[in-house]
Formats: sequence, structure tokens, C-alpha cells
Amino acid sequence: MSSKSPQSWGRYPTVEPEQVVPLFWRNELPNLSDFTTSVLPYGYGRSYGDSCLNEGGVSLDATYLRRFISFDEEQGLLRCEAGVSLADILEEFVPRGWFLPVTPGTKFVSVGGAIANDVHGKNHHKAGTFGCHVTQFELLRSNGERLICSPTENNDLFRATIGGFGLTGLILWAEFRLKPIRSPYISVDHIRYDSLAEFMDIAADSDKDFEYTVAWCDCLKGGKYQGRGIFMRGNHEDSPAYAHKPLPKSLPLMVPFDFPSFSLNSLTVRAFNEVYYHMQRQKHVHKIESYNPFFYPLDSVHNWNRIYGKRGFFQYQCVVPFDNGYEVMKEILDRIGRAKEGSFLVVLKEFGNIVSPGLLSFPRPGLTLALDFSNHGPKTLRFLDDLDALVLQSGGRVYPAKDARMSPESFQTYFPEWEEFTQYIDPKFSSSFWRRVTPEETPTQKFKALSATPTIQTALPGNGR
Ligand SMILES: Cc1cc2nc3c(=O)[nH]c(=O)nc-3n(C[C@H](O)[C@H](O)[C@H](O)COP(=O)(O)OP(=O)(O)OC[C@H]3O[C@@H](n4cnc5c(N)ncnc54)[C@H](O)[C@@H]3O)c2cc1C
Repeated sequence: MSSKSPQSWGRYPTVEPEQVVPLFWRNELPNLSDFTTSVLPYGYGRSYGDSCLNEGGVSLDATYLRRFISFDEEQGLLRCEAGVSLADILEEFVPRGWFLPVTPGTKFVSVGGAIANDVHGKNHHKAGTFGCHVTQFELLRSNGERLICSPTENNDLFRATIGGFGLTGLILWAEFRLKPIRSPYISVDHIRYDSLAEFMDIAADSDKDFEYTVAWCDCLKGGKYQGRGIFMRGNHEDSPAYAHKPLPKSLPLMVPFDFPSFSLNSLTVRAFNEVYYHMQRQKHVHKIESYNPFFYPLDSVHNWNRIYGKRGFFQYQCVVPFDNGYEVMKEILDRIGRAKEGSFLVVLKEFGNIVSPGLLSFPRPGLTLALDFSNHGPKTLRFLDDLDALVLQSGGRVYPAKDARMSPESFQTYFPEWEEFTQYIDPKFSSSFWRRVTPEETPTQKFKALSATPTIQTALPGNGR
């Protein structure tokens, strides 16, 4: 039993599992059906809300399953255990000329977690989600079955597990395609833009020629400067001069304690935004930088989530379809500005139309906005419910990997496929998130239902729904 108590990155909600069980060897795993409560795999806890938490149940710590298994240099196919982190992969494979096909904004994420949330990155418009690059994985079900899942074998479980919140079983290892690169450097443009309309123009202009696009946006600026920010676009640097150039060393910073809750307020955020926006004096700056600051600017500050204080925070990421995306995004920004909520960590991006194999994957074509909100209790919760309503009306959705509070009605409308998905949930698996957004029972109720049921097949979730 490990002492590590699972937490999510937003530090809200704080819940206790009944026990944490570390998994060390693929051939020496506990019999999952022996546990008396439900189980849920846990990676590095980089989900913001409760999708990685299992209050009162068993948390299966998969981070010790951290071995590389094979690499096919011809095809760039890497097979590794599910607890291998994206940081491990970069460290080993960037020097050999390979990069991740898709990466989220932190590299401290496990391969299992990247699949279970079907994560996206700055290249969504070119490469889709992480799941688009997965060729197969092995899934352990609680009845002891070990299933190879791929587009041609157990395809239903393959699709349900990609973006399946860890509920379909434990991924033991996965195989996916890496991407060849000529250097560990990125050729980057930073473009200062004045408004949401200008953002849309630059994005439309950049999507064809740039593999990576994303913008930082000042969420508190209103009027004609609403949505202003810095647009970043980049490609892997190809020139031989950078092929063997050593990566600059950076000293990791650390937030050593929880900031007091008053330190982040609309005044400090406004001041930060003003300085950050004007720090770039020219409209257009070109530079070549190593991949770390480009993809993972926040990873250099350990425990940065502590700046939101002990009460934690909410990250809110939504996507709204292109049809009315501009108007809806303006309305969302209006409300954030009026409420004087929001933080300086605000990301705006366009998703492309590459369809993920995942049944419940979050991305869809449209405009996506991600930002943090300090937890001010009911006031913040009510405010986020209002944003949900706007997103709902627009036909968009909110990202479950970052959620700790959306209502069952919202989740079920955003993801109408959830009912189809329930048939693939392993009867022994559950999470705090799933019990919050669906009529799922608590771990103990679920266990009682299971013990009263003769075979696990007949106890498929839905659980009396
Ligand atoms: C700073 C920061 C930036 C981020 N940027 C992005 C971004 O740009 N795009 C994006 O999509 N996400 C982003 N995220 C969210 C993050 O990428 C996902 O939440 C990711 O799934 C976390 O992986 P993890 O290993 O920490 O897993 P956890 O958070 O511990 O768990 C996530 C899910 O994976 C399941 N799981 C874990 N291991 C296994 C396994 N072996 N088998 C089956 N299921 C498993 C868990 O049950 C849970 O449902 C960001 C998070 C942070 C903190």
C-alpha cells in the first residue's frame, strides 16, 4: 500500500479513497474482483477535477508500470507500459529524433492518462487527439481477461477506452506512433493581436502552414480589445544547425506554500495581463526555442497549483462550434470580464475536424477556451453553471478531464453517447466523476449489487438505469 493520497491538479474536491494500491509488475497484479469496493486507475493526477478520483473506493496507482517495451525504428512505433510519462518518452526519444504525436500542456502525464482522457495539444488541427495515434493497447478487465484492443481487435472497447475516463479497465501497456523530428527546437512566431476577430483571422491564416497554434488571451479586457492576446504558432525546426545543439538548462522553480486566497484577484490579474501583453513591444516576433518552454511553460514551476491557495481552483475548458463560435466566445468573455473572475492563465485555440476514435472524446471542431477560476465557493459554482448554459445552447461541450462541478444534465447533453458508453464500463470500475454526472451508485452500493449478481456480465453498469 502506497502512502501517496491521490489528488487532482485543481485540488478540488479533496476526497479519500478507501485504499491506494500500487501496481508494480504486469505479471503480478492483484485480482481486481477481490476488492470489496470499486476500483479506478490513477496516473499522475494531472486531471484537474474528480475524473481521476474514487472516493471510498480503490485507487490503482499505475505509475510504477513505467517500462519501455519495444520501439520499431522503421515505423516509429513505441510500446510502453501505461505508467510511462510523456516526460520519460521525451527524455529518451527526442535525442534519437522522435517526438510525441500529440502532447498536452504538461509532460507530467502518463500514457494511460493520455489515452483515458484522449488528450489534445496545440496541433489538434493537424494531428487530432492522442488516441488518433494509438495502434493498440492491452486492457485488464476485473474478471481477469487481458484484451488486446485495436482498430481491428475488440474495436468497441478500443473506442470506449480512448477518452473512457479509466472506466473500461486498466490499460497495462499501449503502442502508438511517434513523430520524426530533425531537432529538439521549435521555430516560433509570437504575434500580438488586438481582438477576438483578429485572433480568428490569424488562426485561419496559420492553420495550414503551422503545425502548432495557440494563443494566450487577456480575459478581463472588454470593448474593442476584448479577447486580445499573444498568438503563438510554430513548427519543428529543420535546419541542421539545430540538430545537435544542446538544450538550454533551466532551473526549476517551486511554489513552496499555498498562497493566501486574496493574492489572486481581478486587480492582480488585470495588472499581470497588462504587463504581459505589453512586454512584447513589436507586433510580430520570431524566435527559435527549445521544445520545453514552447510546449510546457508551466512545467518549470513545480506545484504552481498552490498559487490558488488551500481551497483549490477550477479549470474550465469548453469548445463551441464554429457556426456561432465568435458570438458565443464574445459572450463568454463578456461574462468573465463582468464577473471579474478568471486568471492570467487563459488559452484560446481552434480545434480542427480530425475525428478521434474515442466514443466520448472531448474535442470537436470549433473554438476552445481554457482558463482557471479561483474557488470562491457557491459564487464561482453559480458563475460556471451560467457559462455551461451558454456552451450548451451553442451546441458545445465542457472538458470532463478538467471538470469538478458540471451537472449531470450538462454532461449528458454535452455527451449524448454516454449511454452507449455504459455497456463498456467494467462492472468493478467507477469514479467520483462518473457517480457525479450519471446515476451511478457509490462504491459500496455498487459492490453490494455486484455480489448479489451471479455473473459480472449481467451486472454491467447502467446499474439499474
Ligand atoms: C498544466 C496542465 C496542462 C494541461 N494541458 C492539457 C492539454 O493541453 N490538453 C489536454 O487534453 N489535457 C491537458 N491537461 C489535462 C491532462 O493532460 C489530463 O488530465 C491527463 O489525462 C492527465 O494524465 P495523468 O497521467 O495525470 O492521469 P490522472 O489525472 O491520474 O488520470 C486521468 C484519467 O486516466 C485514467 N487512467 C490513468 N492511468 C490509467 C491506466 N493505466 N488505465 C486506464 N485508465 C487510466 C484515470 O482513471 C483517470 O480517469 C493538462 C493538465 C495540466 C495540469
